[in-house]
Amino acid sequence: MLAPKSCDVVIAGGGIVGAATALACARAGMRVALVERDFVGGGATAAGMGHIVVMDDSEAQFALTRRSQQLWQALSASMPATAEYEPRGTIWVASDEEERSEAARKHAWLAERGVPSRLLTSAELASMEPNLRAGLAGGLLVPEDAVVYPPVAALHFLREAQALGAELIAGRSVTHLEDGEAVLNDGATLRAPRLVNALGAEASRLTPGLPIRKRKGHLAITDRYAGFVQHQLVELGYLKSAHSVSADSVAFNVQPRQTGQILIGSSRQYGNEDSNVNQPMLSAMLKRAELYLPALAQLTVLRVWTGFRAATPDKLPLIGPWPSDPTLWLATGHEGLGITTALATAELLAAAFTGIQPPISPEPYLPCRYMPASTPAVEEEMHS
Ligand SMILES: Cc1cc2nc3c(=O)[nH]c(=O)nc-3n(C[C@H](O)[C@H](O)[C@H](O)COP(=O)(O)OP(=O)(O)OC[C@H]3O[C@@H](n4cnc5c(N)ncnc54)[C@H](O)[C@@H]3O)c2cc1C
Repeated sequence: MLAPKSCDVVIAGGGIVGAATALACARAGMRVALVERDFVGGGATAAGMGHIVVMDDSEAQFALTRRSQQLWQALSASMPATAEYEPRGTIWVASDEEERSEAARKHAWLAERGVPSRLLTSAELASMEPNLRAGLAGGLLVPEDAVVYPPVAALHFLREAQALGAELIAGRSVTHLEDGEAVLNDGATLRAPRLVNALGAEASRLTPGLPIRKRKGHLAITDRYAGFVQHQLVELGYLKSAHSVSADSVAFNVQPRQTGQILIGSSRQYGNEDSNVNQPMLSAMLKRAELYLPALAQLTVLRVWTGFRAATPDKLPLIGPWPSDPTLWLATGHEGLGITTALATAELLAAAFTGIQPPISPEPYLPCRYMPASTPAVEEEMHS
């Protein structure tokens, strides 16, 4: 039996959330160990689209996405070129008058909160993105939204954390995570006063009872067609499908990669935990994309894949102490926004661990919202 090792924080899971948390904690002077079962950034982080996007579903979602976007901006100059961070901007595409009104509402809402955006007429949209079908009603350009290649970004965060002394334990899995101990599958034990469950869609395996469901998504990537689209293009109807909590859905969501490839999304499915590509779902997703970008039908798709989002009932992540174990903290439940919100998540946790006032309120994301009988002492720590 190996002697237990001690540190200040043990993080289970080396996706973008765990890696960003390791970096934030290491920067705050903590001794960090991160355990990753496979390889860093290989889970949902590798499957995701890498769209860094400000969302307006709720004030809480806005606060987390906007703060995180600003943290991405601040870090972008120090990221390696292979992380492919590019401030492409999002165009929310309106196909009819109803969606144009929604674009106008969104424009006003963002303006009230200091986020730049510009309403586009039908002609402006056509000249900015000539491959979109003719006759669309217009759109909303949100220029500070960006794209990134998430697995490289995650690896970069982890490498930076390691340079500050963090330890990476890769190729081993955590089998127990509670009461100040992380037990690994080879019997080794890590001890820390703070444990972080950053296992994404698999978080419930080590912390039973979490309000998380897996939400499957498909993506497809084409060969290289530089300049085919310039911005992340998302249909305004996306909001309807992303909000549906029961039905399977697809929506037009297309991203230009730095390589010239076009990343095509996306689908959302509950109750399907099979990682195989589902042909009807894939066809529906590609048809939807071709409805907006007809010339897409002539392009070659090189690869398709699936991934699982960690969805919560209120569409907000679980960031903070888990009330039934004073040593256990959660950083999961980010659904389709975990790339965007990883940095603000890490900032909230590191601030709580070091007693610093974070720039945004941690309140809306506290896991105790799902457990009325929570432990006041630990919650107080998060608020301090
Ligand atoms: C199709 C799709 C498109 C998306 N597009 C976007 C987007 O454009 N923008 C955006 O912001 N978000 C997007 N997302 C969401 C985003 O990908 C996720 O929210 C994010 O990657 C979650 O990161 P994570 O670190 O929490 O989880 P993961 O990346 O899944 O990391 C969890 C890690 O834990 C490891 N692990 C599991 N069990 C154990 C164990 N027992 N011991 C040790 N390690 C373990 C896994 O190997 C994995 O590496 C998308 C997701 C999907 C599926």
